[in-house]
Amino acid sequence: MNYDCIIIGGGPAGLTAGIYASRARLKTLLIESYSVACQAVTTDHIENYPGFPDGVNGFELIEKFKKQAEKFGVEFIAGEVKAIKENKSAWEILTDDLSYTGRAVIIASGARPKRLDIPGEDKFRGKGVSYCATCDGALFKNKEVVVAGGGDTALEEAIFLTRFAKKVSVIHRRNALRGTKILQERAFSNKKIEFVWDSVISEILGDARVSAVKVKNVKTGAVKDLSCDGVFIFVGYTPNTAFLKDLLTLDESGYIIADVNSLTSKAGIFACGDCCKKLLRQVVTAAGDGAVAAFSCQHYLESA
Ligand code: NAP
Repeated sequence: MNYDCIIIGGGPAGLTAGIYASRARLKTLLIESYSVACQAVTTDHIENYPGFPDGVNGFELIEKFKKQAEKFGVEFIAGEVKAIKENKSAWEILTDDLSYTGRAVIIASGARPKRLDIPGEDKFRGKGVSYCATCDGALFKNKEVVVAGGGDTALEEAIFLTRFAKKVSVIHRRNALRGTKILQERAFSNKKIEFVWDSVISEILGDARVSAVKVKNVKTGAVKDLSCDGVFIFVGYTPNTAFLKDLLTLDESGYIIADVNSLTSKAGIFACGDCCKKLLRQVVTAAGDGAVAAFSCQHYLESA
């Protein structure tokens, strides 16, 4: 099947690109991953997306984005993109079992949570280890959990977890948080949250499920066991760009280098949202990027 524009990724960047591309009357296909949900979908409460003074649930917001894209004619399929190949003056997108051809491509493949890569992390995944408080928080009613990380996600999710858990210990490798001041203030004033500074989780322990973590103080080297029922890991993200490494210019962490108009190192391929090298990764910036990418794509196709 041939398209004017193929969008890879069904998060706020990809869906906004879809709205703009389809309104520009481009025949548009959006390929969304069936294995990885966009980060916004797993966010319980988004309170900094304009237009929602009382905040909005991430899943509900993204459903609205999708409905709007469908209304203007974007076609959706679920698939994992394995490669993009140049095919004459078009691009062939290869998924697990199918291929699609587009005159232009917009990459909006997002990013996924980073792992700690410590003993026990794989063994206890789904048995106490989680990367999504919205998905798994309710399983820890009246239990004790630890959170790894000191950024916005760790703070926001630690606060969310206090709805269920009786105690949330935030283990951070420094003695100052990276997260926004307003979230810091909320976390510091929450009686259920304790901070363990200058420390990292070096191992996750348990039998059938998590029962404790080994916590290492990075300044003194001292290691102690901390009992807990759950381990929530929020230590940043890795871009979903492995399938692009031989095609586009990426930075050392794998983020796509795109200019302010979403142009990548290959003419006809545009990039937007969290998979790009940028300062601020938010739903609102992803949506803005998506609009720009679709507009640039439209101009490229008109002048091709
Ligand atoms: P982040 O800002 O990159 O923070 C990652 C945190 O994990 C940092 O505190 C970092 O420590 C720590 N860390 C990284 N690797 C580690 C390791 N191997 N072991 C232990 N700790 C480790 O990631 P994020 O919090 O997921 O946020 C990602 C982006 O989304 C940011 O731009 C953030 O502002 C945005 N975001 C915004 C909101 C909001 O506005 N409400 C909510 C969520 C996310 P160091 O501080 O020492 O580097």
